[in-house]
Amino acid sequence: MSHAIVLSRAGIGLKAPLVKVEAHLSNGLPAFSVVGLPESSVRESRERVRSALICSHFKWPDRRITVSLAPAELPKSGGRFDLPIALAILVASGQLSADTVVNREFFGELGLDGALRHCRGLLSAVRAATLDQRAVILPAEQATKMALVPGSRVAAASDLLSVCGLLKSEKLVTIAVKASTPSTQRHTDTPKITGQDVAKRCLEIAAAGGHHLLMIGPPGAGKTLLAASLPPLMEDPQPSDELELSLVRDLLGLEPNRGRPFRAPHHNTTAAGLIGGGVNATPGEVSLAHGGVLFLDELPEFNRAVLDLLRQPLESGHISLNRAKGTYCYPARFQLIAAMNPCPCGFAGIQNERCRCKPDVVSRYQGRLSGPLLDRIDLHVSLERQPAAMLLQSQETDSDAQGLRGTIDKARQYQYARQHCLNAALTHTQLLQVCPMETAVRHWFEEACDHLRLSGRGIHKTLRVARSVADLAQAPSLSEVALLEAIGYRSKLLP
Ligand SMILES: [Zn+2]
Repeated sequence: MSHAIVLSRAGIGLKAPLVKVEAHLSNGLPAFSVVGLPESSVRESRERVRSALICSHFKWPDRRITVSLAPAELPKSGGRFDLPIALAILVASGQLSADTVVNREFFGELGLDGALRHCRGLLSAVRAATLDQRAVILPAEQATKMALVPGSRVAAASDLLSVCGLLKSEKLVTIAVKASTPSTQRHTDTPKITGQDVAKRCLEIAAAGGHHLLMIGPPGAGKTLLAASLPPLMEDPQPSDELELSLVRDLLGLEPNRGRPFRAPHHNTTAAGLIGGGVNATPGEVSLAHGGVLFLDELPEFNRAVLDLLRQPLESGHISLNRAKGTYCYPARFQLIAAMNPCPCGFAGIQNERCRCKPDVVSRYQGRLSGPLLDRIDLHVSLERQPAAMLLQSQETDSDAQGLRGTIDKARQYQYARQHCLNAALTHTQLLQVCPMETAVRHWFEEACDHLRLSGRGIHKTLRVARSVADLAQAPSLSEVALLEAIGYRSKLLP
């Protein structure tokens, strides 16, 4: 046998297309070449594979060795092909039986001494291999993480010799994969907030209906603390959401996250940092916040062009990045919590405080936010600075927090039973169907909209929020009180 095929997978974003690693030994001057669009990290694998084989006491074939990674048009990078290349050479040179590598996929970078090292993005490869019903052999340090993929069959090894040992043993010992246990984040770790009843009410509505939220208030009003208290109020993540987030984190070499993520990128973050980018189009903060909360503090300080890029994920729940190598698509469904000061000094319109900013400076500061972004944020709330006496008072107790979560959970069940989605995701047509009002209330609301000169979009946002307020009270139709509360949360920055 002077020819062998071993299976592996390339990594293009979250996609993991199958790659056939072929080795052929022919007569002629001893040489070793790798073909099939390998990037420099793969071309370097020649040196690693040769040393690893020799250090593991295998015989290096003194012949002309050609390794091909097919299909050739797929870009291939990283050290993950080291192990399949080494095994293909071993099979082609008759040092390992061809049967041992059939219907299995192999990943791992080899050290010069034959040690098997960890590589990024293997979780997506294991997911794809599991769909194709193949077992996977990969570095030991990454094996436990693969339990996130339901039904995966994984065998782990720490070096090339133990891989061969595993393959030669009668039956491949695969790690039993358990279904992941539900996360426990929400029942611990709830930040305690003192005062700020309006903001807390807004968070309750945001959590119940999945609405995006903008908080406007002076420095020290507790905006960050309020935002951080949202993830524990959200519903427990589905295993599929957790898997998607783990796939994204794995691409960046991060450990899986338990529970709902909370991401708070700094305001000088770049477009690539926020939505993803770079040559290999790695995921950004919006994808790391998938299924959880993206908190943007000091919103007007962000580059406006960068903020405008949020429109696609806010609209569709994912982000596509086009590169020469292809289109990379990452999940990015998050709840946006934005915070800002009312003016550069932070005290415009705050009781008992003096703002030092000129009116045109204040309007320029607020005008830095684009209308289309503000338009997608249903809830706007103004915060006051907390008096010191308030901060010294007793804090919210655990039983209060439990009661609040119960109310929010009921409101969400109410929405799913009625429309199979949260209120924030309602389309305009659906919205009118799920917002019944008594005739008198309808007339009152129409007059109020005319009086406040609410735009069509403004009316829809008000209805969506009012629907969540009514759902928290388990009320089938919208009352004047619910509508009035929703009108109170309309934008102060948009006409
Ligand atoms: Zn000011």
